Amino acid sequence: MKYAITDKCVGCYACQLVCPSQAVYADPDVNGRFHIHSRRCTGCEDHYDAPQCASICPIEEAIVNEMNLPVNPQGSLTGIISPGAAL
Ligand code: SF4
Ligand code: SF4
Repeated sequence: MKYAITDKCVGCYACQLVCPSQAVYADPDVNGRFHIHSRRCTGCEDHYDAPQCASICPIEEAIVNEMNLPVNPQGSLTGIISPGAAL
């Protein structure tokens, strides 16, 4: 497992379009949810310096790495951190 999509995903399709490994797929049962096929995801290591899905994803905390940490944590895209968020 390299990267995974969380329930913060809004189903914009962007990551599916840029993944070089065709690892992103739409949830067949839940409209607007996407997942990453753990065996297909290479972490983009053979193609790019950064995971392309997380680079294009517009939603904070929608994609996590293999340590389950968000690649785009809260505030990283918007500059806004909610008062109750753990730092
Ligand atoms: S890290 Fe790269 S290979 Fe893995 S799902 Fe994201 S874009 Fe695809
Ligand atoms: S780019 Fe982000 S919000 Fe859009 S489908 Fe992928 S994980 Fe979901």
